[in-house]
Amino acid sequence: MKMFALRMAVVLPFLLLGVFTFVRWRKSRYGALAWGYILFSVYAFFFGVVPYLPNFGGYLRYVVGIVLTVAGGIYAIRGMQAYAERKRQELLLTSAERAKTISEEAAVASFRDHRCPSCDSNYALPKMISSEPEPSFCYHCGLQLYGTCAACGTINFVHFNHCKTCGTTLRS
Ligand SMILES: [Zn+2]
Ligand SMILES: [Zn+2]
Repeated sequence: MKMFALRMAVVLPFLLLGVFTFVRWRKSRYGALAWGYILFSVYAFFFGVVPYLPNFGGYLRYVVGIVLTVAGGIYAIRGMQAYAERKRQELLLTSAERAKTISEEAAVASFRDHRCPSCDSNYALPKMISSEPEPSFCYHCGLQLYGTCAACGTINFVHFNHCKTCGTTLRS
C-alpha cells in the first residue's frame, strides 16, 4: 500500500497533465504529441501503479476498461452524428457553393472511389451494368461531377484543379 501511494504520487501528476494536454491540444497542430503523451501516461498508470494496489488492482482494470469502452462508443456515435449533421447542412447549399468547399484531397479520394465529393454516394453503380460515360451530375444531390474543359473539350472530373489534357484551370 505504501509502495502504491509512493508510485501514485509520482505518476498521478503525469496522468493529470496527460489528460489536460490531451483535452486542450489534441485538435491542434501538435495533436499527435498529445496523443503520444496520453498513451504514455495511461500506460505508466496501469503498469507502474495499478499492480501495487492491494485487492482492487484487478477490479480497477475492468472498471476502467468498461468506462473506456462506453466513452469510446459515445464519442464515436457523437462523431457520426456530427458528420451526418454537417453533410445535411452542406446539402442545403447550392451546387456551386458546395463545389467551392471541396478540397483537392477530397476530390482525389472521391474520384478514386467513384463517390460524390459532397453527398458521398457511389455514382459508378450503373456504370458496372452498362458502358455509359461518367455522369455529369451526381444522381443523389445534383453536384456537378464531370464536365468538358472550356479550352480543349476534354471531359474532366470538375473538382480537379486542372484539365488533364491541356492544363487549363478548371476551378477558380
Ligand atoms: Zn452527390
Ligand atoms: Zn483542356
